Amino acid sequence: MIKKYIDKLFGRRERVTHKDARPTVYGKDKHNIQRELISRCARRTCEDLQRAGHATFVVGGAVRDLLLGRRPKDFDVATSATPDEVRALFRRSRIIGRRFQIVHVMCGAETVEVSTFRAHFTREPNEENTDEHGRMLSDNVFGTQAEDAMRRDFTVNALFYDPVKEEVWDYVHGLKDLKAKKLVMIGDPATRYREDPVRMLRAARLGAKLGLEIDAKTKEPIREMRHLLENVPQARLFEEILKLLLSGNAVECVRVLRELNLHHGLLPLLDTSLDDPETGPFAMAALRATDERLAADKPVSPAFLLAALLWGRVEKSLKKYEERGEPAVPALHSAMHEALDAQRDSLAIPRRFDATMKELWLMQPRFLQRGGQRPYRLLEHPRFRAAYDFFALRAASANAPQEAAKWWERFQEASADEREEMLVSGESGPKKKRRRRRGKRREDAPPTPHDEGQS
Ligand code: ATP
Ligand code: MG
Repeated sequence: MIKKYIDKLFGRRERVTHKDARPTVYGKDKHNIQRELISRCARRTCEDLQRAGHATFVVGGAVRDLLLGRRPKDFDVATSATPDEVRALFRRSRIIGRRFQIVHVMCGAETVEVSTFRAHFTREPNEENTDEHGRMLSDNVFGTQAEDAMRRDFTVNALFYDPVKEEVWDYVHGLKDLKAKKLVMIGDPATRYREDPVRMLRAARLGAKLGLEIDAKTKEPIREMRHLLENVPQARLFEEILKLLLSGNAVECVRVLRELNLHHGLLPLLDTSLDDPETGPFAMAALRATDERLAADKPVSPAFLLAALLWGRVEKSLKKYEERGEPAVPALHSAMHEALDAQRDSLAIPRRFDATMKELWLMQPRFLQRGGQRPYRLLEHPRFRAAYDFFALRAASANAPQEAAKWWERFQEASADEREEMLVSGESGPKKKRRRRRGKRREDAPPTPHDEGQS
């Protein structure tokens, strides 16, 4: 009561909290969504559910993206039907999830996720449904459509689109915020971050990806609350970071993360390495290259990007081991493990990425060896292409010799004769002889761990 009065006094806009609240409905002439842009599967799912008497809408990111003139990644559907009712209506569907059941409806190759309207809290957060930091543990309650809007994170993510009537239903001023290019948290931002600290990262990602300004009140609590991310399970955190890095706007996302001070401790790879004058430009170049590849609809490898972001750490350790006089290969192995261990202390990169990252790193010194049979063997390595891209990106960022990257570019294109020539012509004068002799000796030497890896 008092809070409401204070809100009114300070002109804060009132948010709908009533479970039977009425939405503002925008007809076809009041929004720019073209029905044809909704996938066939999502449209059919909505039509069939509506025909069976259930209120059903496309919801969330897809509606937001369409209103922004962007192509949605996927389509989510929200309905008043229970999971069992949905399941009964579609032959090719299955119920998934335990904590909160949703239904996957399949048409051809496409899958649409259908969830029943659910409430955010039936009660205020209390000891039963939150952990000791206020993080929400359970949200498994069906609710009204208004409640389903309220439980979502940002107003622009809480819009419903009815593809049959071509209407946008808005319970939270989402359309106005979208038009004003604002990312506004639904409800009290501090409470919502406490319930789910990942929303702080989502604010950074969605703000950057969609070009929305994070509203001042939505932004304000983040500085004080960022430590709550430490309580989030590692797997969820990593998943969110990966979404951020692969959002297509990684450079901007990282800038916003840093502005919000959310990168500290979370990801050493986004922390010190970007500021380091020796490795920072390479890490940034890798982020930029990822954005460019995504913009061109080319595939990207998360392991490649992670390896690039951690390379600074690897090099730092490598220097230390080399100064201690350790031979190059064992030094690189130790450095890699040290970098991965340091990373694991804050945000664990799942081990499934380890092998690829290590391979990329281990192949790097081999691009400096251009005598004898070595370049040929490197060229045949199944991961040559990725490792070469990694090396070329390093060279372009002054982290590896430009001249070596150019040599490899030519070597790949060259004919057999030209390649032979290059092996010799790449060297000069007395140095040439020494290098060649050394190269010869090396070939007689027992194989290094590099060589073992490639056969
Ligand atoms: P993307 O374009 O990355 O898919 P998205 O907004 O669709 O963005 P999803 O993770 O697919 O993100 O989530 C779908 C919808 O679920 C969101 O639009 C939002 O309404 C709701 N949602 C997702 N995560 C949260 C959260 N942590 N708290 C509250 N609501 C959430
Ligand atoms: Mg989505």
